[in-house]
Amino acid sequence: MIIAVDGPTASGKGTIAKRLAAHLDVPCLDTGLLYRAVGRQVAINDGDPDSSDDAVAACDFPDALLEDDILRTEEVGGLASRVSVHPEVRKALFKRQRAFAEQPGGAVLDGRDIGTVIAPDADVKLFITASVQSRAKRRWLEMIEKKLEHEEEIPLFEIEKDVVARDARDINRKDAPLKAAPDALVIDTTAFDREQAFETVLEAVKQALEGR
Ligand code: C5P
Repeated sequence: MIIAVDGPTASGKGTIAKRLAAHLDVPCLDTGLLYRAVGRQVAINDGDPDSSDDAVAACDFPDALLEDDILRTEEVGGLASRVSVHPEVRKALFKRQRAFAEQPGGAVLDGRDIGTVIAPDADVKLFITASVQSRAKRRWLEMIEKKLEHEEEIPLFEIEKDVVARDARDINRKDAPLKAAPDALVIDTTAFDREQAFETVLEAVKQALEGR
């Protein structure tokens, strides 16, 4: 059983995917973390995230990097968004994601192109979205809550600008742009708190699995 959870930045899809995986007792892969690791590795290599060659070279990042909290910062998120535009980077990360999806027993994967590219055969496809303002607010509150060691506090209006820029890059890139698969269940969580969002998703997944 493969469950694809896609959606724009800060839509809450990561939290939803993790809770869904725990509920179903299957492993979960946050595929954004792979792009973040590539973005971070480009910076470590002193490379240019907009250069396809530099970004591809950074796909060889060590696995330990995936555990580094610095990957969660806004800065690395911005780098991830830039390296993810290169088709060669997406190709280099494909196998790892596909192998995760195919593991016996099933898996939940969250990202931007899981239902469209990585697992078009997913049993359930969710597309989690919310308004720009509410996503920016959530990301800002999260940043304050977590107080990441490497991160300076960023004002809300800056975060909102960043969310808009990331949406534009994700939606307009030629290779695997962010979009809901035609057979995805689109869930807008703007008016929901975390609990309501999860309950709505869980109900939708149960119905979809029953109707298979
Ligand atoms: O989801 P997260 O914010 O961690 O992703 C960071 C960046 O990685 C996104 O802005 C997006 O550009 C890219 N990404 C992607 N495809 C995925 C997951 C993330 O292009 N499946």
